[in-house]
Amino acid sequence: MSGYTTIPYVIAYADELVDDPIYFEWHNHEYRLTYGKPRPSDWVHGILRGRVKDLRDKPDRRGPERMRKLNTRRQWRCMDRLLCQVCGCPATDPATGCIPWAVTSTVFEQTGPFGGRTNAPPTCWRCIPKALEECPMLREDFAVYTVAGAMSAGVLADLYEPGIIAYQPVLTKHNVFVAWDAHRHHGAALAVAQVVELHGMKPVST
Ligand SMILES: [Zn+2]
Repeated sequence: MSGYTTIPYVIAYADELVDDPIYFEWHNHEYRLTYGKPRPSDWVHGILRGRVKDLRDKPDRRGPERMRKLNTRRQWRCMDRLLCQVCGCPATDPATGCIPWAVTSTVFEQTGPFGGRTNAPPTCWRCIPKALEECPMLREDFAVYTVAGAMSAGVLADLYEPGIIAYQPVLTKHNVFVAWDAHRHHGAALAVAQVVELHGMKPVST
């Protein structure tokens, strides 16, 4: 029993988690991370993306939820299509064309007076009260905005370097932002989430 009545769309289930080992390979005159049996879809703009399965629609095969783990694929889809991270439906308010976005300080970095970067997908108006009610951590440190637009900025990634044993990666940094144009870090990054830059943010009182 989890105690949660809502399992957010972005949360992973146990049998979706994949622990395929990663390696460094020599590629285009530099080291880059790869899986043992790589697939083209493992890379996004030259950055290796953490593998997960998406079994959300197969309840008998997915196992129990893992509330502390994100399903990287579903998080990505939420950012690409501006889907609500709780219910998975389009988050944009059809009346205003703005996107409701709830952030905490741990997932948001201000980059200008009306904008910032986040790895947390939007939350639709319908789900915001539910999220606040069910997640005590949110209540302590929570701000809701309406956002005019969101652009893909890069990834949240773990960074590795080749170890003493050739090609064996050693984790050097956990959860760092790697921009799409920071090419020099791409080969060493394992993406865990997509990061977007929000524009035209206006605070909403809750
Ligand atoms: Zn929702």
